Amino acid sequence: MRHRGIATKFKDYQACEKCQAEIPLGGGTCPNCGNTIPYERVYAFAPWWERMISTYLDFIMVAMVVGIPLFAALDVAGIDMNAPDAPGWPVAVIFGAVFVYWVVLEWRMGTTVGKLIFRNRVLRYSERPVKLWQSLIRNIFKMIGLGGSLITLLCIALSRRSQRIGDMLARTIVVKDVTERMQRDFWQSPVGQQHFQAAYQAWEQTQPTVAAQPQPAPSEPPTAHG
Ligand SMILES: [Zn+2]
Repeated sequence: MRHRGIATKFKDYQACEKCQAEIPLGGGTCPNCGNTIPYERVYAFAPWWERMISTYLDFIMVAMVVGIPLFAALDVAGIDMNAPDAPGWPVAVIFGAVFVYWVVLEWRMGTTVGKLIFRNRVLRYSERPVKLWQSLIRNIFKMIGLGGSLITLLCIALSRRSQRIGDMLARTIVVKDVTERMQRDFWQSPVGQQHFQAAYQAWEQTQPTVAAQPQPAPSEPPTAHG
């Protein structure tokens, strides 16, 4: 089990198994010896601000989709939701809809609309999709924690795997895929530039040297046809 990348403060490179050269995370072909390193996604833990924004985006979105028609229907039925004796169940229905949305999407898709914006995914420690019980536990605690966001954010910011309490109990992590970024950063780093220059020089030596072979002079002056 490897959780690497910026948030995990692991190395930004890996070593080639054959030649020990520093090569990019995520795998590919070793630029030094040509050894093929198995392709592997590199995950970083999603930062607390992305998780906060996606939570509220999800909540507002589902609450509007369910709440606007529901309150319109109540209005038509003559139920005044501003009255002191207004029923409590419509608000419970909205919270329930948000809960079901989170549980089902994270269980079936591994992500939600709000999380997709940041390419965040919910995974098990083994980096496999979560099971239903895991999605249930983490989202029960998510609903409880909605009112105490500061504690939740502190937990995410300070814990080793960027987890809130629901994540710890459900044994889940929220990650983002940083494979492309790690590879790009590698090729822009001094080590990557050295690899690139070595490869360029090797390629240059395979090219025929133009200056060493004098071009034969045209034996006949061009004649006009026609
Ligand atoms: Zn190598």
